Amino acid sequence: MKIICIGRNYVNHIEELNNERPSEPVIFMKPDSALLQKQFPFVIPEFTTDVHYEIELIVKINKVGKYIEPTFAHKYYDEISVGIDFTARDLQDALKAKGLPWEKAKAFDGSAVIGDFVPKTNYTSVDDINFELHKNGDTVQKSNAQFMLWKIDELIAEVSKYFTLRTGDVLFTGTPEGVGPVAAGDVLEGFLEGKQLFKIQVK
Ligand code: ZN
Repeated sequence: MKIICIGRNYVNHIEELNNERPSEPVIFMKPDSALLQKQFPFVIPEFTTDVHYEIELIVKINKVGKYIEPTFAHKYYDEISVGIDFTARDLQDALKAKGLPWEKAKAFDGSAVIGDFVPKTNYTSVDDINFELHKNGDTVQKSNAQFMLWKIDELIAEVSKYFTLRTGDVLFTGTPEGVGPVAAGDVLEGFLEGKQLFKIQVK
C-alpha cells in the first residue's frame, strides 16, 4: 500500500506556517515503512528536535482507479478515520528553504499514524465531520472537513491523475491549524465525531 498526503488544505493552517495558498493541491507520499504499527509507541527520531503532530482525516481506497472523475470519487472509499502526519518541522523548514523534497521530514519510519477505520455511512456527510486531537488530555487541534480547500472527492480525482490508486492505499487529507511539537512522555489521542480512533505514546 501507499500513503498519499495532501499539504496546505486548510486556510488557517497555511497562515500559521506562513505558506502560500496553493492554486492546486500539494501532494506528497510516504512509503509503507512510514506506517506506525498498531500498539507501538512513536519514537522521536534522532535527526530532529522539533517533531510536530498533524491530525488529518484519512480515507482508505477500496478499488483500483486512475483518472477518477470527482462525481464518481465517492465510490472509491467506504471507510474513513483520523491519522497523524508526523513532521520533523526543523528538517522540513531547512528542505523547503533549499527547494528540496520533503521526504526526510515527512516520510520517515513511524511518521504515519492510522486510526481504526469506520464506515463512512455512519456519518451524514464526509464533508461535514468533526475531528480533533488531544495531547495529554487537552484538545490541541479541532476542526471540521467543511474547512478543507479541496474536498475528499476532489482530492481523489486530482491524486488519481498522477498515481493509480489501489485497494488499501490511504489518503491523508491535510491538517487544520493548531500543529505543534511532541515530547517524550506525551499521549496523543485522535477522535472522529467524539469517537476515539487512535491513542499513542511518544517516546
Ligand atoms: Zn500533513
